Amino acid sequence: MRLFIRKVLSAALASTMILTGSLFINTNASAAERKTARAAEDSKSAVAVSGSAIADTGSAISGTKADTGSAIVVHHKKIHVKDVRIKSVMPSRKSVLLSLSSKGKGSISGIIVYKKKKSTGKWVIKAVIRKKSGSLEDTRVSFNKSYSYRARAFYKDSKGRNHYGKYCPQVKVRVSIHKDIYKVTDKNSPVYGKTLILYRYGNGELVTDPEKHVKIKADSYVLYVNKAKDYVTAYAVAGKKLIPVKSFICSPGNATPLGTHKTLAKFRWHELMGPCWGQWCTRITNNGIYFHSIFSSKPNSNSTISVRAYNNLGTTCSHGCVRLTAASAKWIYDNCKVGTTVVIHSKTGYEPFKKPVIGKLPAWHTWDPTDPTAQKLCKKHKCHSYATKKIKK
Ligand SMILES: [Zn+2]
Repeated sequence: MRLFIRKVLSAALASTMILTGSLFINTNASAAERKTARAAEDSKSAVAVSGSAIADTGSAISGTKADTGSAIVVHHKKIHVKDVRIKSVMPSRKSVLLSLSSKGKGSISGIIVYKKKKSTGKWVIKAVIRKKSGSLEDTRVSFNKSYSYRARAFYKDSKGRNHYGKYCPQVKVRVSIHKDIYKVTDKNSPVYGKTLILYRYGNGELVTDPEKHVKIKADSYVLYVNKAKDYVTAYAVAGKKLIPVKSFICSPGNATPLGTHKTLAKFRWHELMGPCWGQWCTRITNNGIYFHSIFSSKPNSNSTISVRAYNNLGTTCSHGCVRLTAASAKWIYDNCKVGTTVVIHSKTGYEPFKKPVIGKLPAWHTWDPTDPTAQKLCKKHKCHSYATKKIKK
């Protein structure tokens, strides 16, 4: 025992300082400092007790009592660094949000967050938070991938040396979506009493285009046209449940007939009132009510659309048809077979998706930026990548 203590002491004298776990020996401290440090020590700690033994022996060797201020003063100071924990970890569409806090007694200057590197399995520093608690948003994540995090506190002492706390247990999180079953209880909802399957991101945010992420097995679709708010919600029918899969901004008209209809026919191009021509037309009623793209002034021409009509999408302004962007009309044309149920309503209660927002077009932009057959025009004019970004959902 004595030999061991001597060894430790001589090492302490040689290097001035030893850091063993949380035991800290400083040979240059004054007696007063030493007293303060000793008082602050956690007497329950075994390490602290052995520290006392070193100091006593040190005094004995020097032949002077330590507390009288001898030439050899052994100052042992234990720095206990706080524990930290990852309070919550919240994946969203494109990031993971970590909330961190510290707990218990001890010193702390900040928190170091580590992320496990997939390729090597090694922990790398993701961020240093110079606070006792805080949050970190990791935007370097991909969909359908898992990530591991851990953290520990650090304390920078007056001499600029770092001391570290324990690592908290690692937390693993997957960036993905999950199903949420929701029974609609709002009597003013067009889907009142129905059971919906909603897809959500980890933070609860609704997925507005779940087919981007998951394959949805649908027997058929049902389309709800909101005449009061000027948008369409498309639901996939999954047995007795409905899965909202798309929403489209639209322009119905005052003459658009309320009620439940079954689609009757589809046309790639069709002559409409005016005369004018629309693409991806789906007939809703026998008296000439259709879903169709923004009309063109020339037959089968995708570059002579009415810019005004496009910019009015989202208002009630048609003669009765339900105008849509080209991409929306095409989706209905491609996915909803003849006989699809169309519910036209003017209810203002719960609907899973909000009305989509799209950008406006300048007067010269006489084609629909969502029209896949007109994309080359946007490319040529180097215009409206904003439009495709905003409109293409
Ligand atoms: Zn464009």
